[in-house]
Amino acid sequence: MEIHKDFDLSGLNTFRVKVAAEYFASFSSIQELQNLIEQFHSKNKLVLGGGSNVLFTKNISGVVLHNRIKGIEIIKEDEEFVWLKAGAGENWHQFVMYSVHQNLEGLENLSLIPGSTGAAPMQNIGAYGVEIKDVFSELQALNIADNTVRTFSNEDCRFGYRESIFKNQLKHQFVILNITCRLRKQPEFNISYGTVEKELEAMGIKQLSVKAISDVVIRIRTAKLPDPAVIGNAGSFFKNPLVQISKLHELQKDFPSVPFYNAANGIKIPAAWLIEQCGFKGYREGDVGCYQFQPLVIVNYGNASGIDIFEFSEKIIDTVKERFGIELQREVNVY
Ligand code: FAD
Ligand code: NAP
Repeated sequence: MEIHKDFDLSGLNTFRVKVAAEYFASFSSIQELQNLIEQFHSKNKLVLGGGSNVLFTKNISGVVLHNRIKGIEIIKEDEEFVWLKAGAGENWHQFVMYSVHQNLEGLENLSLIPGSTGAAPMQNIGAYGVEIKDVFSELQALNIADNTVRTFSNEDCRFGYRESIFKNQLKHQFVILNITCRLRKQPEFNISYGTVEKELEAMGIKQLSVKAISDVVIRIRTAKLPDPAVIGNAGSFFKNPLVQISKLHELQKDFPSVPFYNAANGIKIPAAWLIEQCGFKGYREGDVGCYQFQPLVIVNYGNASGIDIFEFSEKIIDTVKERFGIELQREVNVY
């Protein structure tokens, strides 16, 4: 295991912000991670997967631990389901593709989400009407405090909308080592999301399959979202706010066409709509801006610093708050 000092993290965050880690090391097994935790016991520790949901605003003190635990395997199956396990350092999309090629149903709507499988439960990743919690079985994680491994069931993870126990009560206390998903042999497709249904129609697909839905999702995402390999970004910068029905009625008086969706804990208003109404769609200040096709995505056109991006996000929060009385919450993890 090589340990690097003053390690440049610009290649390990999809915003491509230039900051350094005081120390940096990769681990490929539980044992390697346990050794690193012992070695750096008195230092701050930050685990990093693909860096696609972080914004670095300063150099990182302590050690950045890069997860490279690999391996995908079927660990159990019965008549209805297959349990598929992946090392936390596997690329998420490769994991999804593995399941798609085996014709296992459950992950296809989550195709092409960047990052690692280990980070997926962190914010209960979701897209096109599906969240990982819908198929999640269990994970194993290392407790940084005592270097022991613990198993978390679906319930233990306390999944919510872009939330889990690892983002809240247990923040920075556990390193996720592997995850297991329970996938269906007989598909029950979810095409409730409008754009998926429309695209299936546009592509003339009448016979639904795991592969067809995955292809459609990949097509929609490629057309609408900026590729981090080309333009720095971390996906949706803010969560969609949940409001009370009374707030929706108040908004509808001034904005009769406000879009909304019923959600488990309230009414979901698309943050992208609020941001667009404030004139930010395609708006740019120096090297930071809101993406022209999806204003919820803040982009780094070149050499923006983490602070530049953070300040730009503050401006959006303030403007939306002033106009609509709704306070946007960041989805991206800021360090
Ligand atoms: P990182 O950015 O490396 O880490 C994110 C957080 O998780 C950090 O706090 C980190 O410390 C922690 N962490 C990482 N790995 C571990 C681990 N093994 N154990 C404990 N903690 C860990 N998200 C969605 O939900 N839906 C989408 O549709 C979606 N689309 C996106 C599209 C684009 C173009 C981009 C750039 C991002 C998108 N995202 C989306 C956000 C992001 O891809 C996901 O949140 C992804 O799961 C992050 O994975 P990562 O490995 O890059 O995490
Ligand atoms: P979109 O289709 O333009 O829709 C805008 C918003 O409306 C979405 O955020 C979505 O909420 C909500 N929505 C749309 N149709 C819905 C329905 N039938 N039921 C419930 N909610 C609905 O969104 P987009 O930006 O192109 O993203 C497409 C999907 O990919 C979304 O699910 C989005 O969450 C996901 N995505 C996430 C990230 C990220 O970084 N987190 C980045 C890119 C895309 P939800 O977000 O709750 O689905």
